[in-house]
Amino acid sequence: MAQAPPARSERTIAHMDMDCFFVSVERKKDPKLNGLPVIVGGPSNRRGVVASCSYEARAKGVHSAMPTAQAFALCPEAVLISGNFGAYSEYSEQVKQIVSEAVPVLEFASIDEFYLDLTGMDRFFGCWQFATELRAKIMRETGLPITLGMANTKTVAKITTGTAKPCGERMVEPGQEVAFLAPLPVQQIPGVGPQSTIELNKLGLKLIGDIQQADVDHLERVLGISGRILWLKAHAADIGAVHTHYERKSISAEETFMADTNDTKALEALITAMVEKLAYQLRTSERLTACVTVKVRYSNFDTHEQQQRIAYTAQDGELMETAKAIFRKMLHKNRPVRLLGVGFSQLVPGGIQLNLFDDAEEKSKLLQATDAIRHLHGANAIGRAATLQASGHRKGTRLAGTVSSS
Ligand SMILES: [Mg+2]
Repeated sequence: MAQAPPARSERTIAHMDMDCFFVSVERKKDPKLNGLPVIVGGPSNRRGVVASCSYEARAKGVHSAMPTAQAFALCPEAVLISGNFGAYSEYSEQVKQIVSEAVPVLEFASIDEFYLDLTGMDRFFGCWQFATELRAKIMRETGLPITLGMANTKTVAKITTGTAKPCGERMVEPGQEVAFLAPLPVQQIPGVGPQSTIELNKLGLKLIGDIQQADVDHLERVLGISGRILWLKAHAADIGAVHTHYERKSISAEETFMADTNDTKALEALITAMVEKLAYQLRTSERLTACVTVKVRYSNFDTHEQQQRIAYTAQDGELMETAKAIFRKMLHKNRPVRLLGVGFSQLVPGGIQLNLFDDAEEKSKLLQATDAIRHLHGANAIGRAATLQASGHRKGTRLAGTVSSS
């Protein structure tokens, strides 16, 4: 009997892949190659292999990693180019530049392919509109074709890209992932190579839908842990985050009260003050956070910490709301508090994305103005009225902002 399917991922992942990247770069340098079957690869007289080939060559059965001699047997009229990896990396860098200016969470999976995690952005922006506009920008600025796939996991997004190639864009609507995957052959799952395909077919698993229907424990018995992973992938479950190349850091502030307090209003005001300082620190270091942590230590040293994942931001308003919401949820009202702390983690570079991630441009302008005043007069020069209330409760206390790797 088949198990209940795992919960589908609720992330928004875009995957983009340059179309026959090396060939496209060669065609840009020499437009006469347009429309011709082109192979970039090693010489056919020795053990050269195809690194990239145009769709005209693919139509004849040529594919990458095939020995060049075999490719010429299939497509004798092909134009062979030995390749210029310097130029390819230059274009790759150019794409990386364009993308990282627009999105903080991205992972380059290879020289011509990357993933973006746009989760949470739909609150401010249409994710699909954002992704298609970014794709258009890449094509406009590099002059190279690229295909976009969007879905709820990396695996499904990459498969979607595959079905939209060449030079296309496609989105799988939320909730439609399992139905979208079902009729596709198993080898469409990234990582399922020719050998695995044979093995899966032998087990009667030809389509991704067959994997969806299979008993997961049976799959694991026969294929090991990769059997379970395949089953999860086939159900569009959330495995495999988008890994940024950036070093992750966290910043935090905490404050110990000389006299413990259970004055909720004052505690909240202190949270506001700490968030303000930390958010300012975020913006001046041009970073965004995706995780807010609140720490409460009661008079008996009993310490609690809770965190919440949020959409990337460096805006005071959203961070304060989040921190206060966490605080209200976790606070035991009648117990006196000894220490209060706030932390931001999962930091990524992205100061210039402020407007992108916030709907209220006005709010952003206000922040820019207050930040400018802080620059001129020091970090304590300006603050919201609410934060002033907190100061009365701080008797010889410390406010330590620490920046540490996490
Ligand atoms: Mg590619």
